[in-house]
Amino acid sequence: MGQHEGQKELFSYGVDLDRRVRAEHPLRRVQAMIDFTFARAAVAHTYGENGNVSVDPVVLLKLMLLLFHENVRSERELVRRLPERLDWLWFLGYSLDDEAPNHSVLSKARARWGGELFEELFVRTVRQCVEAGLVDGAKVHLDGSLIDADASRDSVVKADAETIARIRAAYGAQERKLDETKPPSARCKTNLKLVSKTDPDAPCVSKGPQSGTARPRYKHHRMVDDRCGVITAVATTPGDVAEPAQVAPLLAQHEKNTRKEVTAFVADRGYGTVETYCDLIAQGVRPHMTPMQPAGHKSEGLYTKDDFRYDESADVYFCPAGQTMTPRRFHERRQMTDYVADKKICAQCPLRAECTKSKTGRSVARHWREKDLEVARAFTRLPEAQADRRRRRSLMEGSFAHAANHYHFKRARWRRLHRQKIQDWIIAAVQNVARLCGATGAAVAAKQPKRPRQGAAAASRPAFILRAGENGARIVGFPPFSEFPGNMRAA
Ligand code: SF4
Repeated sequence: MGQHEGQKELFSYGVDLDRRVRAEHPLRRVQAMIDFTFARAAVAHTYGENGNVSVDPVVLLKLMLLLFHENVRSERELVRRLPERLDWLWFLGYSLDDEAPNHSVLSKARARWGGELFEELFVRTVRQCVEAGLVDGAKVHLDGSLIDADASRDSVVKADAETIARIRAAYGAQERKLDETKPPSARCKTNLKLVSKTDPDAPCVSKGPQSGTARPRYKHHRMVDDRCGVITAVATTPGDVAEPAQVAPLLAQHEKNTRKEVTAFVADRGYGTVETYCDLIAQGVRPHMTPMQPAGHKSEGLYTKDDFRYDESADVYFCPAGQTMTPRRFHERRQMTDYVADKKICAQCPLRAECTKSKTGRSVARHWREKDLEVARAFTRLPEAQADRRRRRSLMEGSFAHAANHYHFKRARWRRLHRQKIQDWIIAAVQNVARLCGATGAAVAAKQPKRPRQGAAAASRPAFILRAGENGARIVGFPPFSEFPGNMRAA
């Protein structure tokens, strides 16, 4: 493993690059904020003791960062332009006459190092943002974005599931060391019969029902801190992976990277599954997602579930006509119980026209974790949650737009999932560094969003009360994090 020593005294023609690069150059701030020398120790185990001396890992890491920071089209182009750019030479510690490394060294280094170094780079930027006071840590926003793989639609072939599995296995055998591809059984049905010959890790995914044809894509998931938009956790998956599955791993990653506990989670409707809501409540995290509609018959103008009263002690529902509905059917897969009224009583009921169209009478489904769901629904209706959802739009869209406009975020530079992860870690690190460079603690404090009055009340954390009303549960106040949700009182 080589180590490049910058030698100022050997600069040709009396040119001192340190004086040529202006004091406020962005790369000076990047240089001041990140100690790249950690890379040598991190990858030392991947180098042997004999043979040619390598290019310094610090130089290679800086080159990869430059690729995104300067949004250069390719590594070949980056190395070609290097001798012309005094600021890049200064950043690398090169002199005018130092020979630029061959572009192929960069891809070989990525294959040699694996992804840990780039993840470490990202985590270091998060920690620096925390130290600079740019991260609150208690409230986070999550969203995902599809990334076009470096493979055309024409590279996709269709075959039976068995053949596709064999093709994937063959690709996997080629890159066994670094391959982290999900097994085909984890993919959606469509992608069991399709595979891209140029990037088999990227399943065919469309951006939505109205958004044209499907093509090979990855999905980038990022968690952003509420205070000033620092990216605190990222994950890259094949494009067909469901977003809710990323909530728990990203929350854990956020808490590990920032060493702060999350108390509020903001996301769009796509993350609002029953499991997500229940898990958040169980962890003591307030879900500020788009409210989940209770199962019901609203669209048909019939009574909704809110019109039925549940009696926990007897485990029965009382319908609007005052009749008792008892548990009748249990659905293991959906984890729900159907409470059913006697069909003879329903047949003679004067409210039948507003209640049901079924010949067998009305039923109401109750999830086995309905209590958690009621608490979650109540949280999502709070004004503070509404304000957070409005802020989420600008915060997340701004973060993705910044990456897309400046760092070539929307298209993969390299093929295979493990390389796409490297791209996402570098881009997230570069964005955090840009945030570090562009914001001081005072400036960030000035940018804090205005909170509604309920938010102010939440700051003082009064006792948590769950009120069961005619229109479902309603929450007033919040408990201390350590006590949540154990001290709930139903009034
Ligand atoms: S139709 Fe049946 S469930 Fe509905 S209000 Fe009448 S008795 Fe109750």
